[in-house]
Order: sequence, then C-alpha cells, then structure tokens
Amino acid sequence: MKNLHLVLSLILISTATATAVAVDSESSSPTVCIIGSGIGGSSVAHFLRSYSSSAIGTIRIFERHDVVGGRMATVTIAGETFEAGASILHPKNYHALNYTKYLNLSVRQPPPSESDSSFGIWNGRDFVFKTLSSTSNLPIFQRVVSFANSVLIFFRYGFSLFRMNSFVDTTVNNFLKYYEGFESRPVFETVDEMLKWSGLYNLTTRTLQEELLDAGLSARLIQELVTVITRINYGQSISISGLAGAVSLAGSAQGLWSVEGGNRQMAVGLINQSDVKLHLNEEVESVSFIEQKYQLNTTKGKSYSCGITVVATPLDELKIQFLPGISIPERKLQHTYTTFIRGLINPAYFALGSVSEVPQLVGTVETPDVPFSSISVLKQHKDNDMSYKVFSRRPLDDAMLDQIFSVRNETVKIDWAAYPHYHAPEVFAPFILDSQHLYYVNAFENAASTMETSAVAAENIARLILSRLTGQKSLTPVKLKSFGDDAYDVHADL
Ligand SMILES: Cc1cc2nc3c(=O)[nH]c(=O)nc-3n(C[C@H](O)[C@H](O)[C@H](O)COP(=O)(O)OP(=O)(O)OC[C@H]3O[C@@H](n4cnc5c(N)ncnc54)[C@H](O)[C@@H]3O)c2cc1C
Repeated sequence: MKNLHLVLSLILISTATATAVAVDSESSSPTVCIIGSGIGGSSVAHFLRSYSSSAIGTIRIFERHDVVGGRMATVTIAGETFEAGASILHPKNYHALNYTKYLNLSVRQPPPSESDSSFGIWNGRDFVFKTLSSTSNLPIFQRVVSFANSVLIFFRYGFSLFRMNSFVDTTVNNFLKYYEGFESRPVFETVDEMLKWSGLYNLTTRTLQEELLDAGLSARLIQELVTVITRINYGQSISISGLAGAVSLAGSAQGLWSVEGGNRQMAVGLINQSDVKLHLNEEVESVSFIEQKYQLNTTKGKSYSCGITVVATPLDELKIQFLPGISIPERKLQHTYTTFIRGLINPAYFALGSVSEVPQLVGTVETPDVPFSSISVLKQHKDNDMSYKVFSRRPLDDAMLDQIFSVRNETVKIDWAAYPHYHAPEVFAPFILDSQHLYYVNAFENAASTMETSAVAAENIARLILSRLTGQKSLTPVKLKSFGDDAYDVHADL
C-alpha cells in the first residue's frame, strides 16, 4: 500500500482524457452545492478543496437539521453523552484516521475492561453461548478471564473462526486499494466499475450466507456469532450481501475506535476547514437544471444557482423534486430503532438470578421470539445504575421495556432510517445522476454503509467532478495545500 501523502504530492500526469462537461459559460470556477452535511457531504467539500485550489468556486452545504453530522450524532441521557448513530471505526479506516489527525481530534479506544466485557447469545429462551465475566479489576485476573473466554469461543466454533477471519481480511485488503495513489487508481464513473476494480464486486452478487458456506464456515458459527454481528451492525440477517456482511464482521474486529467527544466532530472540522458556506436548517426541496445550471430551492423560500450539485444523502425516503426527473433503482432503507436507557436490566427476563449474571453485551439469533437485536451496557455508573443501548427492528413500547428493565430512570428512543436493506445481487444507482454535473455519493451505500465507505465514495466523487470539469481522467498538478506532512500517513498506528 502506498503512502498517500507522498503520492498526492506528486505531479500527476494525465494518462487519458475524457470529454469536459461544460458548467456555465461565465465562470471557470463553478459553485458546488452539496445536499447533506454528514461524513459524505463534508468529505466531498474537503477533497475538492484539497485536490484543487482554483477549479472550484464557492462551496455551499445544505443541511435540513440544525446540526451537522447526519447519522453521526450524539445523544445525552441523564447528563452523559454517547454516540447515537455511527459509533465504531475500524483500525484501517484511513480517511477517518487521517481526518482525526488533521483536525487534531483524539482517538478514543475502549478501556480494557470495556473491550473484555462479557457477551452472550440469547435465543428468546436461553443463552446458547455465554462468556465468563471478570468481577475483579486486577489486570492479571482480567487477562486470565480473557484467555478463558478465547478458549470457550474456540471450543464452540473451532477452526471456522480462522476461516471467518480470513474472509474478512481478504475483503479488507481489497478495500485498501481505495487508498492507492492517483497514478494506479482510476477515477470511477460508476459504483460497479469501482467495486470490480478492487475485486469486491462479486461479493455484492451473493448473500453472506452463501459466501461463508463456500469459505467453509460451520453452520453453527453462521447461525450464531455471524448472525449476532449482522443483527447488531446492520439490523439484518445473514441474507445480506457478502460485501455488507464482510464489512459488518470487520466491525467486530480488535482495535475499534471512535472520536473522543463524538464522531460527528469529523464533519464539523472538515466543514470548518474547507471554506464552506453552511446553510443549517435549510432543506433542499427541488433541484432543477435550467440553462446549464442547477437551481436549488429550499424550505427557506430561497433559490441558489449552482454549477455542480452533489447529493450526499440517501434519496430513498426523501421528497426532493428533480427537474428533469432522475432514475435510480428502488432501494428500501432498514430502520433501526435505538433505545437508550439509564436504569437497570431485569435479570428475571433472562431467567437469571442477578444483574451481574446478565452479559454486558446480549446478542440475539434470528427468531421471532426476541423483540430486540442487541442490548449493550454503555456505562456502569454504579452496581445498580447503568446506561444501556438497545437495537431493535421494530419500536419497543413501554410495556416491553418494562419487562426487560426493572428500573428506567430515563429513556430516549431514536428511529433511524439507518442503512440500505441489503440483498444480493445488489443493483447500484449511478454516481452521475444526469449527463451533466449532478452527483450522488450515497449510490455507494449499497456496497456497504459506514462512515469510511461514505468518505471513500466522497473522495472518488471529488476526483470525478474535477476530472470531468477539466476533461482529464487524472488531475494535473495536484498538491495538498492544507494537510500537514504526515497527515496522510496511511500506516498511522492508533
Ligand atoms: C444506528 C446506526 C449505527 C451505525 N453504526 C455505524 C458504525 O458503528 N460505524 C460506521 O462506520 N457506520 C455506522 N453507521 C452508518 C453510518 O452512520 C453511515 O454510513 C454514514 O454516517 C453515512 O454518512 P452520509 O454523510 O453518507 O449520510 P448522512 O449521515 O445520513 O448525512 C446526510 C445528511 O443530509 C441531510 N439531508 C437529507 N435531506 C436533505 C435535504 N433535502 N436538504 C438538506 N439536507 C438534507 C440529513 O439531515 C443528513 O444530515 C450507523 C448508522 C446508524 C443509523
């Protein structure tokens, strides 16, 4: 893998030319309007500014809410703040890592006591598997318990665990191609092309279950551990695509991290650093292509003229009107109901005698008998006072919550239109929604939905815009102006 910062400092030679798509006749530096201030929209702004100092004029970001970050959001419950949406990053999520460095943010890794938290798989009647929990704060004791748990997991799932890791490692290694330098990495006009180039496309044509059976995993591992993970990370079963499944499994790896104080600070920082005009509380209602320009009309009754428009939000549940109309494949979003509770779990619900016997992470298998996908302890304040996060596919009413929890001092419920409902084979929307300059970052979400995949798609969209503006497939010359010397060290250690 290349050191991207070195690569980006190179003067890149155009190897192929494409037809430049005219923007507007008066200005050579068009206004870019971005709909959505999540990691996707903020990354587009960041990469446009980083890759070109002159080709782009004003950048406007429109956000319908009063805060930036989208699905990166925090929730405050009983005075404590937690990630409400996207919470974990993989150690090889290099854009997120580099944003964190560039923006002087701090990496948060779970303390050892948290990462070794006890875990159980619940089927609605019994725990089919349960690890030991450490009752001591002594590091030596915790290490013994951790070792014993590794043995327990190996006894239950055997060598299939190694096959699962190998499946995930291969996928992650293919994904790392997206950090290669410009001289070896093309600009992609379609998601299909982007996935085929990295060797990931075939994984989107088959289900995770098919892929894992072919990889030699046991039925028990797939029905239990893998199912638990896909239910936690995507709220879905093992019939999701192989690629979404591999990404979901990678989200249970060692070394996961988050941004201290909230992942959304990445979007805040990128927007602050990218000379952006931010329009908060301003929802884009329509996008009309009139006389070679996009006219964006917003809920504030205002109109904006933009040479380039980037949609950086899933269009599936939105009512933005496009003129002329656009055509994208139908896609359903998976809703994930996230319920935060400050209180105490009820051990009797799990047929257990005490709270300490209930695993700190309760995962579940596919069965209609369980109303939730997972319950995890976010923080133990005292023995009888904890913060929990519950994921479920349907809303949990108070009567149900009162069965699962014996004490509920505060409850916060969020209904997320969380990610695509994955299926195989996936069909992808275009990155370029018309033949002009209307782009769609979230076309890539059918491959996998994560903060990093949004950033990777956004980086490609920024390159696509610049290459189509200039008519060149590669950019010439490009030098990062705003990053520090080591900002793009893709070998950064956490
Ligand atoms: C519960 C949950 C848990 C998750 N866990 C993880 C995780 O642990 N790790 C991980 O990497 N990913 C996780 N994800 C996925 C991750 O959050 C997303 O893939 C990623 O944040 C998508 O970013 P985005 O910028 O593409 O879209 P979004 O974050 O959805 O941003 C789109 C923005 O556009 C705005 N918008 C929409 N329509 C308009 C309009 N008409 N006008 C103006 N603004 C508009 C929205 O308000 C929003 O702010 C999780 C998601 C959820 C919901």
